Amino acid sequence: MKVINSLFKDKNSDHAYFLPLGGSGEIGMNLNLYGYKDNWLIVDCGVSFKDSKVIGADVFMPNIDAIIENNLNVCGMFITHAHEDHIGGVHHLWPHIRCPIYTTPFSGYLLKQRLIDYGLLEKANLNIVNKESKFEIGPFKLELINISHSILEANSLLITLGKKKIFHTGDWKIDNDPAIGNKPNSKRLKEIGKSGVSAMICDSTNANVKGFSGSEKSIEKGIYNLIKGYKGRVFVAMFASNVERILTLSNIAKKTNRQLGAIGRSMWRMIKASKSVGYLKEKHIFHEERNLKNFSDHSFLAICTGSQGEPLGALNRIADETHPHIRFKKGDRIVFSSRMIPGNEVSINNLINKLVYKGVDVVFPKAKNIHVSGHPGQEELKMMYSWINPSILIPVHGEAIHIKAHAELAKKNGIKEVLKTKNGQLIRLCNNKADIIAELPTGKMAVNGDELISTESNFFKERKKMLFNGVVTINFVFSDVGDLQELPRIKFLSVVNSVEQEQLIELSEYLNDEIKSFIPFNVSKEKQLRDYLNKKVKKFIINKFDKSPSIILDIIYI
Ligand SMILES: [Zn+2]
Ligand SMILES: [Zn+2]
Repeated sequence: MKVINSLFKDKNSDHAYFLPLGGSGEIGMNLNLYGYKDNWLIVDCGVSFKDSKVIGADVFMPNIDAIIENNLNVCGMFITHAHEDHIGGVHHLWPHIRCPIYTTPFSGYLLKQRLIDYGLLEKANLNIVNKESKFEIGPFKLELINISHSILEANSLLITLGKKKIFHTGDWKIDNDPAIGNKPNSKRLKEIGKSGVSAMICDSTNANVKGFSGSEKSIEKGIYNLIKGYKGRVFVAMFASNVERILTLSNIAKKTNRQLGAIGRSMWRMIKASKSVGYLKEKHIFHEERNLKNFSDHSFLAICTGSQGEPLGALNRIADETHPHIRFKKGDRIVFSSRMIPGNEVSINNLINKLVYKGVDVVFPKAKNIHVSGHPGQEELKMMYSWINPSILIPVHGEAIHIKAHAELAKKNGIKEVLKTKNGQLIRLCNNKADIIAELPTGKMAVNGDELISTESNFFKERKKMLFNGVVTINFVFSDVGDLQELPRIKFLSVVNSVEQEQLIELSEYLNDEIKSFIPFNVSKEKQLRDYLNKKVKKFIINKFDKSPSIILDIIYI
């Protein structure tokens, strides 16, 4: 496993390395590393949500054993923007990495709050850098370039390593007329391209979508038309992080003479952050949840969270009548100004059914022009290729299908060296060639209370087994020479719906007999005894009940 060290201790080499540990081969939990002269820079440190294969956990992040086991010298971490798939892992993983963190003011504000909540701000070295600034982290010379996206302050990153230039796009799109937030700095991007870029590491999310993603302004009319003239209350469900959309709704509220309410904790968090950093002004008024009952139907407009059907999101809480201040009623309209994130289809459908049942008019984006994506469609990707003109393209931020589509598009559009990658592949960038030189440990860690646990661990396998097969506990009381002092006591938990007392006694007597053939008995042989009993219990339960529960043996000696 000391693979990187042996490759990388050549401090004089001018080779650059790229190592994706999250976000390549999946949507979510982005974490990329760049290596140069025995130093490493982390770009983004995100989380993902939900994994149908893992029970009882809903926040995940990349396994960073490749960093820890190789004792990599991480000299810093840069966060490109404040979406959870880029920033959400910092407070979980920073304690294991302990490097300085860099980001721009809006993301910095949100990260600071998170670090305070987790008691890490004093320890973590959080550096707020300006948009479009240049700074150095170890041997990495960095320049930030404005790019548009569905959140404020998305940054692309130019990394200069000796004579080599690497361009990391981050999440991006082209919106040349944003109401607030970044306009792509195409002038600088073209200059960078002319200066000769060795490799571009680029967002693949919508590489299989033809055309342009569309501008934020283009949807204002679509949403306006659904609100203007409607007699009932209107709720707009959206991603809280899309502050430009919040501003769009603020403008629509004004035009339609409605008061604008904001519902959901993350919505308020974003409004506060945007006001603190100066993106939203005091004149942008948002009414608190508890005051919304004061407004008549035709003057009511609210933005709210929970568009993905999250169980504790505002929409579900209102629909379930567990929200403290708001209820839906017949004649309300709910406009989903958001996309359906893959994997959330069932929870969104369940939510919509609940809403329809309440007599609410539900409008989903497919029908109208009420949502645009924050990621580049094929025409935008082609534009970026022509600006940056890299020798090598490495598609990231996508599942295998997106990365493949991106690689094909890039090849078709004249990029000679295109490397499809996945998490854990150590890539050497040298002489305008990209080579995979090692496969390093990768995987997912799940948050379980204060712990991080690998999703491949026995912990989750056992949990799944318990859920599907239940638990059997058996108490054995032995004398120190190995005589059972009483029949084993047995309890079944969620194994079968009803278990007869006789069946438990039968198992108890069966074990009592079987123990006699476990000779010689010796306290020091407890492990063998446990294995032996486990086998016997398992066999008996499979034969009798056709189930394979978790078995807990409690052995005591008196
Ligand atoms: Zn993003
Ligand atoms: Zn992202």
